[in-house]
Amino acid sequence: ETIAVRDFMADLLGEFRLELEEKQVRLEYEDRLDCECAVWIDRKRIHQAIRNIIGNAVKYGPEQGLAIRAVLCRREDWVRLELRDNGPGIAEDKLPFIFDRFYRIDPERTKDAISTGLGLAIAKELVEAHGGSIAVASAPGAGSCFTIELPALETQGGDGNETDSDYRG
Ligand code: ATP
Ligand code: MG
Repeated sequence: ETIAVRDFMADLLGEFRLELEEKQVRLEYEDRLDCECAVWIDRKRIHQAIRNIIGNAVKYGPEQGLAIRAVLCRREDWVRLELRDNGPGIAEDKLPFIFDRFYRIDPERTKDAISTGLGLAIAKELVEAHGGSIAVASAPGAGSCFTIELPALETQGGDGNETDSDYRG
């Protein structure tokens, strides 16, 4: 479904914010989109991908004072959602593997005994099924930042500039 990504994300992150409030987790959301970007989105699948990322922030984050910050912005022809947490972070040598199926950094030490190590692998598949990509930046003690990028289909609106597609190929 092709939809206005701004409204979709505002609704979705608003839902998560309410859910997280019950767990004493703060979710901040900032919309920095400079366009009325339309994006092809399968609502349920993007919801699930973001749920898996936010679920990890909660599961691996501190019991007290966990904060998640989401930023929506555009990078060239991509709409980007950043999800940043203030949790423990991930060691550099583990980072290349965290999107692998069944990969878990510390199988013994988790709040959740039924974890399988599939959450991020599934998130990656769901995002890639949209023609998008998912990435992570993290360091121990510095939190983690997961980035989802989806192809922007239309980028009109913007900052009042003339259209930049003056020629056709
Ligand atoms: P499942 O999602 O199936 O319940 P899981 O959470 O262990 O299991 P993934 O979601 O794929 O699996 O995450 C893989 C590993 O990456 C986790 O086991 C955890 O060690 C690490 N990880 C993921 N997200 C974070 C995060 N926000 N902060 C710290 N570590 C993380
Ligand atoms: Mg998980």
